[in-house]
Amino acid sequence: MPESQNKKRNPMIIYVAFALLIMVLIQVFVVPTLKNQVVKDVSYDQFMSMVDEKKVETVQLDSTKLEITFTSTNADGDTQYYKTGMWPNDTTLAEKLQESGAEFTSVIPQTTSPFTLFVISMLLPIVIFVGLGVWLNKKLREKMGEDPTMTFGGGGLSSSPFGKSGAKIVADTDINETFASVAGQDEAKETLSEIVDFLHDPSRYESIGAKLPKGALLVGPPGTGKTLLARAVAGEAKVPFFSMSGSEFVEMFVGRGAAKVRDLFKQANEKAPCIVFIDEIDTIGKRRDTTLQSNDEREQTLNQLLTEMDGFDNHKGIVVLGATNRPETLDPALLRPGRFDRRVPVELPDLAGREAILRLHANQVKMQNPIDFGVIARATPGASGADLANIINEAALRAVREGRKFVLQEDLMESVEVVIAGMQRKSSVLSPHEKKIVAYHEIGHALVAAKVNHKAPVTKITIVPRTSGALGYTMQVEDEENYLLSKNDIINRLKVLAGGRAAEEVVFGDVTTGAANDIERATQIARDMITRYGMSDEYGFVAFGEQQSKYLGGGTKINGSEETLRDIDLEVSKTINDALADARQILKENKFKLHELAAYLMKKETITGDEFMNILTRDEKQGEKIAQGVGA
Ligand code: ADP
Ligand code: MG
Ligand code: ZN
Repeated sequence: MPESQNKKRNPMIIYVAFALLIMVLIQVFVVPTLKNQVVKDVSYDQFMSMVDEKKVETVQLDSTKLEITFTSTNADGDTQYYKTGMWPNDTTLAEKLQESGAEFTSVIPQTTSPFTLFVISMLLPIVIFVGLGVWLNKKLREKMGEDPTMTFGGGGLSSSPFGKSGAKIVADTDINETFASVAGQDEAKETLSEIVDFLHDPSRYESIGAKLPKGALLVGPPGTGKTLLARAVAGEAKVPFFSMSGSEFVEMFVGRGAAKVRDLFKQANEKAPCIVFIDEIDTIGKRRDTTLQSNDEREQTLNQLLTEMDGFDNHKGIVVLGATNRPETLDPALLRPGRFDRRVPVELPDLAGREAILRLHANQVKMQNPIDFGVIARATPGASGADLANIINEAALRAVREGRKFVLQEDLMESVEVVIAGMQRKSSVLSPHEKKIVAYHEIGHALVAAKVNHKAPVTKITIVPRTSGALGYTMQVEDEENYLLSKNDIINRLKVLAGGRAAEEVVFGDVTTGAANDIERATQIARDMITRYGMSDEYGFVAFGEQQSKYLGGGTKINGSEETLRDIDLEVSKTINDALADARQILKENKFKLHELAAYLMKKETITGDEFMNILTRDEKQGEKIAQGVGA
């Protein structure tokens, strides 16, 4: 992080340069003039002889000190000051002076004593040096907060108090978000509303002796509204909101993160009641381990956080909210009572939740009725709140592109596809033959889907290539949300996935790379069946899998002996290939419809689920005719 290094080095350079400049200026301009003003002590007879030589210009008698101060021009033409003692009862002095033409003045000339010169030329720069240093220190301290453990520039001036946390921590005092800005997530809101209540009136809880949790951890996949919820809590409670992301604490220099934590809580303590929000807390809150390659900085930061959470005074009403999508990596010390002891799951929205989120975000967009948000919600299982917000926005962008003033249902449907499969690729790169393969492939999926599963009808089939790389796709929308999948459901899903490849085999007698994604997904599903869901024919009710980071789709780590792993592989491939065989069988039985539908799709490029079902349920004979026309 060169930037943070600069930040620290710059003030030092400026400081040294500035002090040196001032010293040079003093030496060049001030000291020479002062030197001339320094008074030379001379003897009385020297004075008298100078008077005789008519060198004395002005004379001042100081009768109280019995001193004579006089000036004379030296060889350089500068005025030089002299001093001598007064000779008692020298009555001839005035006479002699008059004779020499010297001037008697009543003003004591400005002179500088050698001591003053010493002070100005030597001591003053030191004072300036130190003063400037102190001032700069103070400035930096104000700017960055305090951190006595920091060493300046990585060593040298370790006692220099230049170490600062470097963060400007400012509380957000007027948060617009409230619980009304968060659609769905009712359980999370319910848990958090207790915290809101506490922040409103901490004394009510205190008087009964109740201790409210100091911290709550919002846990869930990305984009589900964790950050939004944290802000909404502050908005509801109308308290200041201190927000920092875990990554902001972890810096190159050891100790800075800890200093920031200290700063954060110091500020919070001043502004209480308030909320301290630490986003992506897993960055600092990772389980401390004993491996060699440990991260000192992170551990120090975490330790400081733990200390602060133990230390702060909860009567004042400070609540620490954390958010993470990797709760399994968190250090257990963070989760024990008195710290983040409340866990608030913020899961992906269900059907009703998705519809609510869509409606909420649609409020900000002009729409032309009728809009059926239910269809969009059903078409987007697994979408997060952020995805849904994005879908609404994409729809609005599309409406603008098409020169409309309102968003239509079709904009929404199209933007669902954009979010799922990427933009349409306008420059068609498919040769007619490739297009034909893609059409059969997609109809293969759709036909198998229609035959095996009536709960998730096909809603759209398209062979317009997408920027994601998909050459076409078949969209199925479930009638209702499924929370449970039976083994049969899963096998049907495998058959549908195999349908594309099966169609290629049945029609062309050859296969293409187009099924790669289908195969990947099918393999994952089959593997999960065996290793996680206990649906293996051979092993049955046993789990071999260990899920990795649940919320980030980290996949499954499979454990087992070498032999077992081999068996699992065999069973996975058998399961999938059985599904493929079934799909092939279905397509063979419906070969005429396959040809008819593929021809129709090739002509139209995109067809709706209704068109598809109409053709599928039409009488067989018509299908035969069209199939011959295609000549496949
Ligand atoms: P997270 O912190 O969980 O990754 P965010 O809180 O940053 O997710 O959410 C990102 C965006 O998604 C929000 O700004 C909001 O527009 C939208 N969003 C997510 N969940 C919801 C929800 N439940 N209701 C409304 N909008 C949501
Ligand atoms: Mg977030
Ligand atoms: Zn496919």
